[in-house]
Amino acid sequence: MTVRADVAELMRAGYGDRTIARRLNVSIGTVRRARAELQMPAGQPGPKSYGTPADVFWQRARPVDGGHMEWTGTVHQGTIPSLRHGGRRYSAYRVAFSIAHHRAPVGRVEPGCGHPGCVHPRHVEDRTIRATYTAIFGGTQ
Ligand SMILES: [Zn+2]
Repeated sequence: MTVRADVAELMRAGYGDRTIARRLNVSIGTVRRARAELQMPAGQPGPKSYGTPADVFWQRARPVDGGHMEWTGTVHQGTIPSLRHGGRRYSAYRVAFSIAHHRAPVGRVEPGCGHPGCVHPRHVEDRTIRATYTAIFGGTQ
């Protein structure tokens, strides 16, 4: 089977099967099969604390049709989905990027999937990724 990337991400983040299923709107069986497939240890039951900006991110991102994720939290200046953690404001795009790529983004981060406002960790791109695509496929900008 193919394991959905967002399911795998939440398992790596330590969430339990039920939480992942609810948050990503997939069946509990899908999550359990994915966990077996990836040989991931079971998540810890119970509510998660807001330990990191990524924890807050998963509380505010909501899956929508087409495999995208929309932001249910604050939108700073009407354009940037954002969250607060530890007294700081973070761009949800940047937090999403760090979740998927395990590094800090370079330059501006924005969705590259064509779905306005999408915060899916695998759909946001930083300058490095955009430059790579442009080098491979050519660019219009
Ligand atoms: Zn998207």
